Amino acid sequence: AQERYASIRDLPAQTKCGSVVALHMNAGLMADLPSLDSSGAEGVGLFRTELQFLVRNQMPKRSELSALYARVLDAAHGKRVVFRTLDIGSDKVLPYMKPNDEPNPALGWRAIRVGLDKPGIMRMQLQALIRAAAGRPLTVMFPFVAQFEEFRAARAEVDKTLAREERLGHVLPETVEVGAMLETPSLAFAPQKFFEEVEFLSIGGNDLKQFFFAADRENERVRRRYDTLNVSFLSFLEGIADRCAETNTALSFCGEDAGRPVEALCFAAIGFRSLSMRPASIGPVKSLLRRCNLDEVRQVIHEARDRGEMSVRSAVMDYVRAQHQ
Ligand code: PEP
Ligand code: MG
Repeated sequence: AQERYASIRDLPAQTKCGSVVALHMNAGLMADLPSLDSSGAEGVGLFRTELQFLVRNQMPKRSELSALYARVLDAAHGKRVVFRTLDIGSDKVLPYMKPNDEPNPALGWRAIRVGLDKPGIMRMQLQALIRAAAGRPLTVMFPFVAQFEEFRAARAEVDKTLAREERLGHVLPETVEVGAMLETPSLAFAPQKFFEEVEFLSIGGNDLKQFFFAADRENERVRRRYDTLNVSFLSFLEGIADRCAETNTALSFCGEDAGRPVEALCFAAIGFRSLSMRPASIGPVKSLLRRCNLDEVRQVIHEARDRGEMSVRSAVMDYVRAQHQ
């Protein structure tokens, strides 16, 4: 399938109206890295670090992690890699950690909540990342941030770890960028100061959608009940894009929906200029974006919403079909 899109691989995802959307890829294994070149992705917009923790039967050592992260950066040869710190709990349970008997794990002790309450693992991971970067730029993203204070506390851990590493004589990264995933509706309503302080935001649409609609992403019966292109969800996302535009906060979308061409088109139309997806989606998403005019798509979206439609999907699909003719 990638051969089909080979002719546009090295071209930008530039729309008919002249907007350029940066397309990045999601990864989680060393084996994913070769796709960086073959897909034409600009970088890794989401590196899920939990896989290295999930595939073992004991906690990985700091030196092992640092070696792996360094190899990831080597393989990216200068392209940006966004390392997401450990996102465990909920659907991702470490075999060597005592399972928490929680009635609602998705709403439970997970991701940054674990990282802040038991900072040992998070500090070890931050050290491994800092040592891996050694003189190169480092980008760290914290998952499941629900309020400003959690981001501040996590950011303070980064600063403390940097200071400690410097004292220990390690070469620090050239630059350190710290961002947050927006996966809970609460963060969209954080104070303006949060949007000013965070260096970038990435929408974790898989989680954000489940919490927006209160529909379990693991539950087949309700998972597909709510369309991502539902007008309420799109309005919500548009509001986030508007807030980010006001504060000049870099915004991306890294949930699975970013890899679905019609969804990606709608996200671009409401203001997203960066999307991260599985490598095989880059060609199809780019191909569609290059055929469309985002001003027209935004108008189609707003008109469908004003007509009281539940989802903008059929209106946008009609528009997309017309671009093929
Ligand atoms: C998400 O929630 O959209 C996301 C990218 O993170 P994960 O799927 O790993 O929870
Ligand atoms: Mg998530």
